[in-house]
Amino acid sequence: MTRAVKRALKYRFYPNPEQAAELARTFGCVRLVYNMALQARTEAWTLRQERVSYNTTSAMLTAWKKTEELAFLNEVSSVPLQQALRHLQMAYTNFFAKRAKYPTFKSKKKSRRSAEYTTSAFRYRDGRLTLAKMTEPLDIVWSRPLPGSASPSTVTVSQDAAGRWFVSLLCDDVIEQAPATATGVVGVDAGLDSLLALSTGEKITNPRHERRDRAALARAHRNLAKKEQGSANRARARLKVARVHARITDRRRDHLHKLTTRLVRENQTIVIEDLTVRNMVNNHSLARAISDAAWRQFRTMLEYKADWHGRTLVVVDRWFPSSKLCSACGALAERMPLNVRSWTCRCGRTHDRDVNAARNILAEGLSVIACGGGVRPQRESSRTGRSSAKQEPLGQPRESPSFRAGRIVNHAPLLRAGLEILAERLSTCWGQRRRTPTATA
Ligand SMILES: [Zn+2]
Repeated sequence: MTRAVKRALKYRFYPNPEQAAELARTFGCVRLVYNMALQARTEAWTLRQERVSYNTTSAMLTAWKKTEELAFLNEVSSVPLQQALRHLQMAYTNFFAKRAKYPTFKSKKKSRRSAEYTTSAFRYRDGRLTLAKMTEPLDIVWSRPLPGSASPSTVTVSQDAAGRWFVSLLCDDVIEQAPATATGVVGVDAGLDSLLALSTGEKITNPRHERRDRAALARAHRNLAKKEQGSANRARARLKVARVHARITDRRRDHLHKLTTRLVRENQTIVIEDLTVRNMVNNHSLARAISDAAWRQFRTMLEYKADWHGRTLVVVDRWFPSSKLCSACGALAERMPLNVRSWTCRCGRTHDRDVNAARNILAEGLSVIACGGGVRPQRESSRTGRSSAKQEPLGQPRESPSFRAGRIVNHAPLLRAGLEILAERLSTCWGQRRRTPTATA
């Protein structure tokens, strides 16, 4: 089975000096237009309670270009500027839908430097990409081929804090879905000392370079803190920090891609826990920040890969006491401090903390699927027509849990697995209760 998707492929490229200058100018203009439009919209609302639409900002842009002091906006391609206004509109849409905070101004130093080109502003022919206002094609490192005869519909150029240039091409692609014969079900928990723990008992450790990278990052940060404000040494130290960061994120992304691909290939159903459960433990260390970011990225990758391959991804709710529950008998331990790595339940089973949590997450996820409740809806697209080539239009009502439960008919092996776990739990529980009448609630 195949599935048509939109896919962004990112490549590194090396601009010549003129191209770099042109792009730097474009980034600056994009930022300026975005900020000016944001200011106009904010003022109109706070002073006059007026809503300014995208079309109005577009007309403003035309007017700005005609003024003497903003005439330089004409020197760069007009498309990225127009796209900046679209991005602002999107930021407002997300704000009004309560998905995001109020848009903020783009900062010269902190914001991502990027410019988006649509089809009218670039030419792609024979593997050569030329942007508007440029004479020569970009020197792209084609680290992997573009899908088939695909031609990109959108091109995004960006430069990261470490000074590297990237181009991202949005293409139509056809995904070969992994065989539907995979009947595996797996629960995944973010481990305390390992990266992930699986309900199968497997623990996935952090790659070996992780610890060394963190040490290097901490060192680079310390070094930066010692440098005088505004000095050339400080600028150099900041670049060094950015480079270490870039290496860490690259390696992490690569590792997570391999992991998520494997999980999706081997399993029909994957159950994970909501990230926010981990935020209850307050810890502001660098290592923690990195592992949180990794978990977020892990979930995002799982979401779209499960969607591509017609797998079911269940996210169990945050209040679920996965670590404290015995996965064999269902007894609830009273407390489970973070230093407890393994424990023995009253039923006699010894559990590895993380694997036990992953088993509980799996059982919870399966019962959620069977009963059709307790879980918040995931990305709509992951459950709507897996064979359909088109994405659902926005604003489509979300499926109700009861409707989702109806899909269980197709998941006989899954139900069986869930029932087996339940039966096992009940039988242990029953045997347990006869021996010790004080069963834990
Ligand atoms: Zn137990």
